[in-house]
Amino acid sequence: MAEQEWMSEVRAKVGREYGRVYAWDEVNAPMIRQWCEVMGVDNPLYTDPAFAATTEHGGIVAPPAMLQAWCLEGLHMNNYPPGSTSENPYEVLKLMEAHGYGSVVAVNSDLSFERYVKPGERLYYTTRLDAVGEEKTTALGTGYFVTLVMSFFSEKPAGDEKVGSLLFRVFKFRPANPVKPAKEGDAAPAVPKYKRAKPGISDDTRFFWDGCKAGKLLIQRCTGCGTLRHPPGPVCVKCHSFEWDSVEVAGTGAIHSFVVMHYPEVPPFDYPNPIGLIDLDEGVRLVAGLVGVKRDEIRIGQRVKVEFNSFDDGELTLPQFRPVEP
Ligand code: ZN
Repeated sequence: MAEQEWMSEVRAKVGREYGRVYAWDEVNAPMIRQWCEVMGVDNPLYTDPAFAATTEHGGIVAPPAMLQAWCLEGLHMNNYPPGSTSENPYEVLKLMEAHGYGSVVAVNSDLSFERYVKPGERLYYTTRLDAVGEEKTTALGTGYFVTLVMSFFSEKPAGDEKVGSLLFRVFKFRPANPVKPAKEGDAAPAVPKYKRAKPGISDDTRFFWDGCKAGKLLIQRCTGCGTLRHPPGPVCVKCHSFEWDSVEVAGTGAIHSFVVMHYPEVPPFDYPNPIGLIDLDEGVRLVAGLVGVKRDEIRIGQRVKVEFNSFDDGELTLPQFRPVEP
């Protein structure tokens, strides 16, 4: 099939270099230490100056995998240091979006290194639009693989030195199953309809979800010693028996704890989104959504009762808990 005409505008940009993005700070020991702490890296070459002094490096170096961290914008979007480019290396993605390729998924992120960087060095990177592939159809949909390569440099009086690069590839695509208009002649909705993630159902958990569909809250019971357990599992932690059945519980209990999700807002959930840890009266706990309650009215110990609600045109039935008067 001949390529669509608008793609020539995209292709014309391949090979283009986008200007510098500077680091807010020079390579420094506090950031290295914090990064190592967060990532669970305990190599003393990165954090122990006395040890590092005895190595071929003569002092601490930054973990190579930290490379991208030095030139990040920080907490606020597009807040780059003075002198940084305002060009957008992702401009071709915008062009593709305008032609219906609205979805994106990152597929590769490959770091490579020329050498270690040391405290005191000041880094910047430039970005090259490296490649835009031929149109491909994958399980996700039809679209284009777009590859960007960021090259990182250390500023030096005698000429900047390349210290590493990051290849970043995304697949920009039209989803395989676009949402159909509600009725003939309607414009397609601008926002696709998202479904809830489905539970992973196994032989150990199927009874629970079948119960929900039938409007029953079923809890697993060890037939060896009678202990109830939730979430379901293959073996009794008390007597180690593999034999079990299930029992319908009353569906009444109290809020043991709860969280209210505010952000990020992930479709298709409503926000704020209250989630409860429920102490069932039979003595097991269960995590479930809370309904019919304002977020500032949720209380630990509040009495609740289960109800079963259907989502995604009946594909999924979930137990949810609603406060009841004491
Ligand atoms: Zn048991």
